Formats: sequence, structure tokens, C-alpha cells
Amino acid sequence: MYCPLCKAEYRDGFTECSDCHIALVPTQEQAKQFRTGQLCTDDGAVLNALLNSLADENIAFRSREVLRSSPWPWLSFLFWRYAKPKPASEFRVDVFEKDWPRAKEIFDRVAAAEPLD
Ligand SMILES: [Zn+2]
Repeated sequence: MYCPLCKAEYRDGFTECSDCHIALVPTQEQAKQFRTGQLCTDDGAVLNALLNSLADENIAFRSREVLRSSPWPWLSFLFWRYAKPKPASEFRVDVFEKDWPRAKEIFDRVAAAEPLD
């Protein structure tokens, strides 16, 4: 079984992706046919607003944190909310291509609503 959004493979018996909370498809070929788009931000507040809005709109998404080059990623993760260093990671949110126009619209809206530093 494969997740059409994050393309993760699951053993038989699983029916839903634990990351994306969507139904799995039986083969990798089927999963590959689902095209996805990606939104990126390094702003945690934008990410939270984006994910909340996507959930409100029932848009399936998968978010993950991608570390940029950093000597101690786990350390920056532990301290980033207190110390607010330059973001050492960025967040990537995958959505299905069919949801992309709506997702992009939401992203632009929440990004514009966040005050710039
Ligand atoms: Zn998934």
C-alpha cells in the first residue's frame, strides 16, 4: 500500500497514511499518478496558520521540517523557540495538484497577514 501524497510505503493491512491522514492506494504506480505541489516557508507562525486553514478547508497536506545545513540540528530545534536564531530549517507542505490553487491562495493570504520582521 502506498500513500498518494507522501509516497510512503505501508504494509498490507494499513488503509490510511499516518502522516497525511488520507486513504492509501494499492500500488506505487497508482501513487505516482497523483501529482503534488509544495509550499515552503521558514516562518513557524505562517506554517501554523497555513496548516490550520488547510485543515479547515479539508485540503489534504503533509508538512515536514527540512533542516538546512546546521552543525547541531537537534540543538537548534530545542532552542529555536526561545532564542529565535536565524531559522535553521524550513517547512515544506505538500498538497495534491488538484488542491494547489486553493492551497496557494491560502498560503499567500496567511503569509501576507504575518507582520514582517
Ligand atoms: Zn502520506
